[in-house]
Amino acid sequence: MGNRTLAILKPDCVRKNLQGKVIAKIQDAGFKIIAMKQMRLTKAQAEGFYAVHHARPFFKDLTEFMSSGPCVPIVLEKTNAVAEFRKTIGATDPKEADPGTVRREFADSKGENIVHGSDSDDNAALEIAFFFHQGELIANQ
Ligand code: GDP
Repeated sequence: MGNRTLAILKPDCVRKNLQGKVIAKIQDAGFKIIAMKQMRLTKAQAEGFYAVHHARPFFKDLTEFMSSGPCVPIVLEKTNAVAEFRKTIGATDPKEADPGTVRREFADSKGENIVHGSDSDDNAALEIAFFFHQGELIANQ
């Protein structure tokens, strides 16, 4: 059970100017911010990040969306971070997400669903390394 996960505030979150509200909800759920930046993924970087989904019918839409504007990758720390964060954001489709979750509260659709969260400890480690150097991860006492 790892204590870190990677979140991304997706381009819809930034376009809607909801970064502060979403980060407040994440902090209220007990997560500490270890690293954070704003950047814009190229299409090729989005394809690399979502390589596991390359055969899925939504791959083109997903990678176009994720490279359509700035996003905010964030490294979060909490005990059992991966599972806890997925509970905080809710199901992929906001219509199926529990009340009070980030996606239920802020997302418009299954594709444009405000936030990414890693789905396993192994993927969390890979995804954190995709965006951040070791020296950019600052433990929060
Ligand atoms: P997650 O782990 O909850 O983010 O969901 P998945 O790993 O299944 O999918 C990754 C991302 O692909 C989701 O967060 C959505 O942004 C996108 N996605 C998943 N299913 C669909 C779909 O049916 N249509 C579109 N356009 N995007 C989808």
